[in-house]
Parts: sequence; structure tokens; C-alpha cells
Amino acid sequence: MDIRKKRVNDLWFTEEQTSNMKLSLRLSEVLLNKSSQYQDILLVETQEYGRMLVLDGAIQITERDEFFYSEMMAHVALCSHPSPRRVLIIGGGDGATLREVLRHGSVEMATLVDIDEEVIDASRRFLPTISVALDDPRADVRPMDAMEYIKSCRGEYDVVIVDSTDPVEFAAGLFRAPFYRDVFNALKEDGMIVAQTESPISDTHVVKGAFREMQSVFPIVKICWGVMPTYPSGMWTYTIGSRMHDPAAVRRPAPDGTKYYTEDMHRAAFTIPPFLRDLLK
Ligand code: SAM
Repeated sequence: MDIRKKRVNDLWFTEEQTSNMKLSLRLSEVLLNKSSQYQDILLVETQEYGRMLVLDGAIQITERDEFFYSEMMAHVALCSHPSPRRVLIIGGGDGATLREVLRHGSVEMATLVDIDEEVIDASRRFLPTISVALDDPRADVRPMDAMEYIKSCRGEYDVVIVDSTDPVEFAAGLFRAPFYRDVFNALKEDGMIVAQTESPISDTHVVKGAFREMQSVFPIVKICWGVMPTYPSGMWTYTIGSRMHDPAAVRRPAPDGTKYYTEDMHRAAFTIPPFLRDLLK
């Protein structure tokens, strides 16, 4: 993380997205800058993308572009499952994916398990449009390590959504087969998992690795992709493991009020360009 004050009223945040590429955003204000037990938490007001949450120097969410990501995280799986009633979100402490999940009237309960309660608190305090669903009566918010939580679940969930940080430290296990095996057991017999699996341009090893690890557990595994302006390379992947249903098929209509996801965008997201197909071979 590099916050440099060049002169009065010229404050920038820079993320080193790869060792050879940086993204800088001009700030108007620093709202919160602290360390939790797990990570450094920074909340800033940017001039281009509104308020922005940064964890350990990596951009997590901005007010202006979060819909590209949170709608893909939620609606691809929820619209290809015939009747999603119980949903588990792993990570996602900002609340954006939860807000999208609860747009589905079929969802009776959405459990959100984020290891870091201070991320949840910071989002409640500084990101009201993003965290709005954290206090919904259908939301069950649990601050704990999802690697532990998932071990106690058996055949309970229709959809599990892994909205995690990058695969380092306490999030690394969320991209590996033993965790996917626990998720498989936590799902109902026609359940599915969707995981954010990083950039197919900047993080090829993660995309490839997560796909292979998931394939070792789930009978059906597909990848889809979307735009995400403030994440490295701007192109983002979502990998879906399914016990029964083809996740590329749309079985339910998109909820009202989406800004990126539609049934056509769902189908388009599974159209895989040759470079990505080759990466997964
Ligand atoms: N959309 C974001 C991205 O891809 O950059 C992720 C947003 S969300 C803020 C990520 C959350 O995952 C963080 O709040 C972090 O605390 C949580 N997380 C990481 N590892 C976890 C684990 N093992 N159990 C539960 N939550 C975890």
C-alpha cells in the first residue's frame, strides 16, 4: 500500500496489482486506516470510484463498480439453480454479495461467514449502500473462519458463494480441494458452489489451480467471466462447481434492479475466449 501526499489536496492510493503494474486513484479523504487481528483495513473516498475498501493493500470494493462483481457472484448460481432457498456466503463481509442474494424472493436464509468482524463493522459504518442487507431479517452474519464453519455443515445449502480475498494467508485454503470437499458435503444433492477465482490475465495460476482443484471434487465444473474495472486487468473469473445442474443454463429470471446481470449476460459469461480455454486445458 502506498498513500503518498504529494501536495495539499493531492492524495493518492496505489495498489501494486502485479510486480510490474500499479493502479492509482486520487483520494479526497481517508475515512479509516487501522489493523485488525487479520489484516490492514483502509477505507477511503476516491474521486473516480466513490468510497473504496482496501484490505492488505488490495482493492476489495468500490461504490461505483461493485455491481459488476457482486451481481456475478450472486446471480449466476442463483439463476441457474431451480429453487435456491438456503445460501452460504464465505467472506463477503462488506455485504454487497449478500444484498444481491437477498434480491431473490426464494431465499429464506443467507448465512454470511467472514473471519474479520472489523471488516463487517467498517462496511456498516462507511458503506451504507453496500452493507444495507447485513441487518436484513433473512441474514445470519457470523464472524468466524469459514474453513472451520464449513466442516460442521451437512447437506444444508443450495448455493455456496466464496467471496474471499486473494489466495494468501488465511484465505489460501479457500481455493483448494479439501475445502471444496467440505463445501460439497455442505451442499444439498443438487447444490452448487461459485467462487471468485481472480484474473485470467494477471493470475493465471490461480484460475487454473482453482479449476483443477474443483474438478477433483465436483462432477460439473464451469468457468464464466465478467468485467471488473478496479481489479487487476479488469477481467474477472468465477468458477462454478455443481452436483447436478448445468450452471450455464438459466432456470430463473434475473431479479429486478440489476445493473450488469441479465439472462443474456449469464449466457454470454459462459462464452469462453480461446486464450482462456487454452489456459484450462
Ligand atoms: N470482492 C473482494 C475481492 O475479490 O477482492 C472480496 C471482498 S470480501 C471483503 C473478502 C472477505 O473475505 C474479507 O472480508 C476477509 O476477511 C474474508 N475472508 C478471507 N479469508 C476468510 C476465511 N478463511 N473465512 C472467512 N472469511 C474470510
